[in-house]
Amino acid sequence: MLHFSCDLCGQQLGERRYVVKLEVYPAFDPEDFDEDDLDADHLQELSEVIQEIEATGKTELEDCSSKGFRFDLCPVCHRKFVKDPLGRDALRRLNFSKN
Ligand SMILES: [Zn+2]
Repeated sequence: MLHFSCDLCGQQLGERRYVVKLEVYPAFDPEDFDEDDLDADHLQELSEVIQEIEATGKTELEDCSSKGFRFDLCPVCHRKFVKDPLGRDALRRLNFSKN
């Protein structure tokens, strides 16, 4: 049997487990170059990119791919999360306490 623990507070989770799935991806097309910049330069640029990929084994577009996150939360953390998914409240409190 699988045991889950809350990704926020570390508490062991029973049946009341909540799953958070986040996906982050660019809303623009990373391959959508400005048409004015194309022409011959584009071919040159492309071959440089390909050379770089061959040299480093990495691609520039890697950071543009979508990223998925998955978290298991206990009921308490779930309630906090849905109220403030990006932690903005915590950030505001931090700013207030500085003043
Ligand atoms: Zn928790």
